[in-house]
Amino acid sequence: MIPYIDYSKCEGCGACAELYPLFFEMRDGRAWVINHEKFVAEKHRDVVYSCPFRAITVE
Ligand code: SF4
Repeated sequence: MIPYIDYSKCEGCGACAELYPLFFEMRDGRAWVINHEKFVAEKHRDVVYSCPFRAITVE
């Protein structure tokens, strides 16, 4: 399982990258998921709550 970003909801606020720089970075005003291989759903599932627009899911 890894994080996914729904770009129809992402407003480019940067909160995810600020709170979880290991897994998200901003590129051209949009969030990108990075370091997929380090993501462990059981440990890191809370990343979904970093997004005030509910654009992040873990699937
Ligand atoms: S926190 Fe949500 S809205 Fe903000 S940049 Fe990240 S995915 Fe986009």
